[in-house]
Amino acid sequence: MLTKTKIYLSSPHMGGNEQSFVKEAFDTNWIAPLGPNVNGFENDIQSYLNSNKHVAALSSGTAAIHLALQLLGVTKGDDVLCQSFTFSASANPIMYLGANPIFIDSETDTWNISPELLEIAIKEGIEKGKKPKAIVAVHLYGMPYKVKEIQTISNTYGIPVVEDSAEAFGSYYKEKPCGTLANLGILSFNGNKIITTSGGGALIAPDEETKQKAVFLATQARDNAPHYEHTKVGYNYRMSNILAGIGRGQMQVLDKHVALRRHNYSFYKKELSKYSQISFLEEPEGFFSNRWLTCIKTDSYETREAIRHALLEEDIESRPLWKPMHIQPVFKQNTNYTNGVSEDLFDKGLCLPSGSNLTEIDLNRITNIIAKTLI
Ligand SMILES: *Cc1c(COP(=O)(O)O)cnc(C)c1O
Repeated sequence: MLTKTKIYLSSPHMGGNEQSFVKEAFDTNWIAPLGPNVNGFENDIQSYLNSNKHVAALSSGTAAIHLALQLLGVTKGDDVLCQSFTFSASANPIMYLGANPIFIDSETDTWNISPELLEIAIKEGIEKGKKPKAIVAVHLYGMPYKVKEIQTISNTYGIPVVEDSAEAFGSYYKEKPCGTLANLGILSFNGNKIITTSGGGALIAPDEETKQKAVFLATQARDNAPHYEHTKVGYNYRMSNILAGIGRGQMQVLDKHVALRRHNYSFYKKELSKYSQISFLEEPEGFFSNRWLTCIKTDSYETREAIRHALLEEDIESRPLWKPMHIQPVFKQNTNYTNGVSEDLFDKGLCLPSGSNLTEIDLNRITNIIAKTLI
């Protein structure tokens, strides 16, 4: 008898060579934090990004955002403008620094930070005598934000951007890779991301000096002395050589994963766009999404919940779109600039299973269940 297996939203997918890089680390006893896999992984990422950027492999994407904000000089009491429609890890590091996140709602073309609201927030800040210190913009679900518009605002007001590319490794904006499009970029290799080291992240810096500053802070801020000397507070944020080995294997399959995830999106779109209750997020001209997760927007909260429950009954994981930060209990005191877009997406949107390891049988099973709830 056939037993139906659980389908996850986005599960790790190994390419095959990860274990040989990890074995090499064992064989050469590079178990202690740093080692050749860390350098190798950083070089692999740098050549993939095909730019002059310098990459520091870190323990998580969250750590990378924390260091990025610190490198931009964000400190206690500063205001930082942050996309509201995102995962909490985009905003939490602002709090670690004692700064104030101000949340900016989304526009409807990419579901990312609204340039209009961003500019209003900056102008109001300047009028009050408090210019925001930085902007955290997110390529959510792999879809690039409106890079040109955000960069223009950043240049006009002289406020640097942290490009949260945690979900968008393998995405492009006008042929340029996401992660390289702002002052500082970050990646995540968490278990559910498009490639994973089980846990990890990276900071993408404009030059070697900035990278070395990040590495310094990430390794407990040890000054150059034979003993342990510290003039700054540091962190333990560097990636381990073992995990970087997994990363090297995963870099060999990144493009394949992008193709497979884009295939999932096309499959869902082909099978489900005939239903008037469902719509998909299209790529604007010049935008290339890695389609980390395929997201649908339904016509109502009730439709979304009907689909989610029907899938759950069949042991298939799906998830409402991110709950915007400005309505999260932890951030409800913070200032926000809203237009209803992200709250509407949160009410009616659903992430469908999107792993690069889904089979055609899985995809058919999922779309059949969804179709039944819509007829
Ligand atoms: C996953 C994620 C992060 C954080 O990455 P971790 O490696 O899990 O710390 C940051 N921002 C977004 C948008 C993410 O999805």
